[in-house]
Amino acid sequence: MPFEDYQKKRNFDSTSEPKAESVSTGESNLGEAIPIKSKDMLEFVVHKHFASHLHFDLRLELDGVLKSWAVPKGPSINPKDKKLAVMVEDHPLEYKDFEGIIPEGNYGAGKVYIWDYGTYHALDTDDMQQSSRILREGLEKGHMTFILSGEKLRGEFALIRLKKASPKDWLLIKKNDEFAAEIDISVLEAPGEAAVL
Ligand code: MN
Repeated sequence: MPFEDYQKKRNFDSTSEPKAESVSTGESNLGEAIPIKSKDMLEFVVHKHFASHLHFDLRLELDGVLKSWAVPKGPSINPKDKKLAVMVEDHPLEYKDFEGIIPEGNYGAGKVYIWDYGTYHALDTDDMQQSSRILREGLEKGHMTFILSGEKLRGEFALIRLKKASPKDWLLIKKNDEFAAEIDISVLEAPGEAAVL
């Protein structure tokens, strides 16, 4: 989903969400990978968002932005669950640290908490450049498989696009591994939730 949409939907005089001014794609004009920062792992965050409807937002760092999906019922670690994940506009990388209140009258008004965060990589490699390439291909073909190393979400997950006709609709599915369990993890609170924002 276009990154430009992020800026268009928001009034930065009113919301404290980060502006989308600096996008580093990690590639030069010639398509060569260039080092843009001294980190070696991709990051992810899951926001718990008390908007008009409570939902969770899964955001995966890729190519200098956060690829984002709204997960209405929240992520699951039960492999039997298939959770609808609706792709939304790319968010700036800085958004991974955002927690706060989006004021009334603004897009997505309501409280936003960091429910989970950590690093992630493609299934077969934890190399950042290789992961990025594999994940980019997965995104294109509508089937991404990755390993999350978060506080709540760990192990292998898949995001699978339902059909080309409705490219926004994906399913988030936990793969069966040592981190899978038949429990409802979405009832867990975000660390900051008890505190008043
Ligand atoms: Mn949201």
